[in-house]
Amino acid sequence: MPVAVLHASVARPSGRLGPLAVEAPDEDVFTLAVAAAEALPPESRPVTRVDLVGEFPPESEWEILEALGTPEASVHRSPPGAAHLLETLRSHPDTPAAGVRLVLAGDVSALGPGNRLEHGALAVAFRLGDGPGLSFSSIASHATSPATPSARLRLPAAHGAEPTPLLLLGSEARVASAARDAGGLGYAPGIVPHAPPGTGPAPSTPTAVALRAAPPGEGGPIEFVLAALGADRDVYAYGRSTGRVAWSEALSSATVALAAPPVRDTPADLDLRAEGAYVPRPRYVENLPSRWRLLADHCGACGHRTFPSRGSCQACGSAEVAPEPLSRVGWIVEAVTTVRPGAQPTEFDRTVGLAGAYSVVVARSPEGPRATFQVAGPSGTVALGASVVPVLRRLYPMEGEWRYGRKAISGPNSSG
Ligand SMILES: [Zn+2]
Repeated sequence: MPVAVLHASVARPSGRLGPLAVEAPDEDVFTLAVAAAEALPPESRPVTRVDLVGEFPPESEWEILEALGTPEASVHRSPPGAAHLLETLRSHPDTPAAGVRLVLAGDVSALGPGNRLEHGALAVAFRLGDGPGLSFSSIASHATSPATPSARLRLPAAHGAEPTPLLLLGSEARVASAARDAGGLGYAPGIVPHAPPGTGPAPSTPTAVALRAAPPGEGGPIEFVLAALGADRDVYAYGRSTGRVAWSEALSSATVALAAPPVRDTPADLDLRAEGAYVPRPRYVENLPSRWRLLADHCGACGHRTFPSRGSCQACGSAEVAPEPLSRVGWIVEAVTTVRPGAQPTEFDRTVGLAGAYSVVVARSPEGPRATFQVAGPSGTVALGASVVPVLRRLYPMEGEWRYGRKAISGPNSSG
C-alpha cells in the first residue's frame, strides 16, 4: 500500500494586519509548526521521522524534536512551495514500521514589492502512514504561460484516465479564468481555502489546506488532480484518495491587531544581553523538558507530582520518581496580573513595544501542580477561574536566538 496522508491539522496565527492573518510578535514558523503537530491525535506518537517544508531556521531541527519529546527521530528539510510540499508527501523514505512520520509545512508572512504583504502565515502538520487516505503518484511543475491556459489544463489527461475532480488554487482571477477554460473537461474548480473578497492573499501553503477539499474516496478509490497556479510556476499533483483524511484545528488565541507588517529579525535584534533575568543557554536547554513539555516528576512512593521536574519528590524527598507530562488542557487560572508597558523586564521590551501590555497568570494543572504563565495575546483576555491551555510561543531574544516557553491561551470551555 502506498504511503498516504491519514490525518492533518492546521495552526493559524493570531496576528491580524487588517483582515489578513499574520504571525503575532511571539509567533514564528517554529511555534506554528509545533501548534499544528500538537493538534494531531495521540496516535501520532512516537514520531520517528519529521520532514520540515518551509523556511525553518537551522535551530528548528533540534527544537522541533525537543518540543515533540522525540529527540531520537530524524529530521529532513525541504524548501517552501507547493512542489516541494507535494514531493515530500509523495516520497517513500525508509522509516521504522512502528514509528510515525510527520510532515510539517509552515509559512510566515512575506513582503513583496512596494512593501505589500504577499501572503499571511499558516502551518499544517500531516501524519503519514499506510492508508486509507490521500496519496500522490506523480507531480508535474512548469513555468506559467498565461497565453495558453487550456494547454496547461489538458496536461493531466496525458497521464492516462482523466482524473476528477480538479482542484485549482491561486489568485482569484487566475482560478476563474482557468475554471472557464476547464469547463468543457468536467473538472470541479475551487479556491481553497476560500478567501472572502477583500481579505487579501492566502498563505503560500494553500496546497496543504487544499487537500482538505480533496475527494474523500467513499465508495471506492478516486483519482484526482490538484493544481496550484502560481505567479511564475504551476504545479500539478496526481493523487488517489482511498479514504477520508481526518482534519483537526489547533486552538487559537485572542487576536493581536498589528499596526505594521511583521519584520524579519536582524542579528542586532537577537543579540540582547538582558540586564534583568539572564538565563545562560545551558540552563535554558536543561529546563526545556519541563518548560516545553510540562514534564513533572511523579513520585512512586507518595504519588505527589513535582513540577518543574527536578529528579526527586518535593513532598517526601524520595528519588523514586518517573517523568510524566502534565495535561496540556484544563489548567484553571487562580491569579491574574497585568504588566503595563514600562513595567516589563527589559527582555520583553521588543514584544511589549509591538503588542502592548500583557497579563501573567498562575494556573493549576488538572494533576495539581501550579505554574506561572505569561498570557499570549492582549492583556485582559483571560479571567480568574478561566480554563487555559499552555501553548509554545516566543519569550524573548537572548544570546543571538529566540528563547521559547509555554504561554496561556483561553481553553475550549472558557468564555475568557
Ligand atoms: Zn513523594
